[in-house]
Amino acid sequence: MSVQTKTVTCHNFIDGSWTPSKTERVEASINPANTNEIVGYVQNSDARDVDQAVKAAVAAQRAWRKRSGVERGQILYRVADVLEKRAEEIAETMTREMGKTLPEARGETARGVAILRYYAGEGSRKIGDVIPASESGALMFTTRVPLGVVGVITPWNFPVAIPIWKAAPALVYGNTVVMKPAQETAVTAAKVIQCFEEGGIPSGVINLVNGGAEVGQSLVNHPDVDGITFTGSNDTGRKVGQLALARGAKYQLEMGGKNPVIVAADADLDEAVEAVISGGLKTTGQKCTATSRVFIQREVYNPFREKLLDKVKRLQIGSGLDPQAWMGPVVSEKQLEKVLWYIEEGKREGAVLLCGGERIQDEGRKHGYFIQPTVFEHVTPAMRIAQEEIFGPVLALMPFDRLNEALEMANDVEFGLSASIFTKDIGKMLSFIEEIDAGMIRINAESAGVELQAPFGGMKKSSSHSREQGQAALEFFTSIKTVFVRA
Ligand code: NAD
Repeated sequence: MSVQTKTVTCHNFIDGSWTPSKTERVEASINPANTNEIVGYVQNSDARDVDQAVKAAVAAQRAWRKRSGVERGQILYRVADVLEKRAEEIAETMTREMGKTLPEARGETARGVAILRYYAGEGSRKIGDVIPASESGALMFTTRVPLGVVGVITPWNFPVAIPIWKAAPALVYGNTVVMKPAQETAVTAAKVIQCFEEGGIPSGVINLVNGGAEVGQSLVNHPDVDGITFTGSNDTGRKVGQLALARGAKYQLEMGGKNPVIVAADADLDEAVEAVISGGLKTTGQKCTATSRVFIQREVYNPFREKLLDKVKRLQIGSGLDPQAWMGPVVSEKQLEKVLWYIEEGKREGAVLLCGGERIQDEGRKHGYFIQPTVFEHVTPAMRIAQEEIFGPVLALMPFDRLNEALEMANDVEFGLSASIFTKDIGKMLSFIEEIDAGMIRINAESAGVELQAPFGGMKKSSSHSREQGQAALEFFTSIKTVFVRA
């Protein structure tokens, strides 16, 4: 086995074996809280490795789809048990490799277990309907068949939950999988694959190829890959969608957000402040559903701002392994530079910095990618910090007078992933549900977080409009057959 300690090399997992890449290229995966610490080494593969993995997935397809959904589900239950047993070790690896705090990493790992069990159960549930036929005595019904081989391309921000919420439904509905995780969190991803291995998944049914854009692109372009499920940035997602469309493969894209929270004058301000902090700054603002814009009704703007600043200034920033730390570093130097660039851009465009705005480089934190939680005001909707996904701990405050005005500003972006409103007024809640451009709407709750049994996805440029999670996953990972029987 290749991934046992903190510093071994993560090979690819192909046809049931940990397999060195044909490239022999290896990159270090480092701890963003302490860049002197190498978490592991990861192979940087190429198209030849992808081809080998796809061939293994094709070869395993027939036998896997012939098993019943119930039997496939039983294997997922065993994988869930292994992940549960190894949860602490995997959560710690995630914190070391990605930077989120250990309690958050534990929560994510537990979520991975719950998703596996949910889809294990789906293997025993209905996959079709009986439809009345107009001809007497005839039977008409739908059934579903797997797509075949599914390519799973995932980002670094949820390195356990996202690969599982794609792979588990793909597998239970009879597909075989080739997974390409983000390079930044490849050690964590390899440990997830080990859980499948230890849970007894047959050889070739799930495969893993490590690498970057070259590997992702080869997977999307491979003629034997029938479906691509992608989560990541907008720019990459559009490329993936175009390539998949060009060769007629089914695809699903989940991408960025610029998620608004509206705080109406009648809101419980303490609750709203907590939700904005948690939704905007947990995981260091690196959630696709993170709050990034806060629209506050003018009557309560000042008290909301004071309560928010008071709390934000007291947040403890440090290594995710430190029990005192509330927020960890951003994931990489690239992400650090991007966030700091947006903070400078915000200042240049005339927004006023209320707190934060700097990299933290004191004695204990000089080797990490730590950024102060940052709050801007006097932000106008056209500014880049109000339009573009920053993916860091940066909040933009904007006042409004009437709800219509807030809705207009909230909708004035290319994205439409999640959105919240804080109000006690049912009329405002209903207007919000009706008018807001968002795939996921939250009332008196933070913008981040959707339960695993509910559809997850966005509108506008946040998504290709299909949905993940829950029973919505059946739609993407299978094809419908409509059957008419004249007996
Ligand atoms: P990214 O687009 O840089 O990378 C995502 C994945 O795509 C990685 O595995 C990467 O190696 C791969 N990739 C890169 N270039 C590719 C190419 N040309 N062809 C195929 N694959 C390629 O995104 P990231 O920085 O890893 O993740 C952050 C982004 O993910 C943010 O925009 C965030 O909003 C988004 N995200 C969205 C959701 C959601 O469900 N909507 C969830 C989490 C993260």
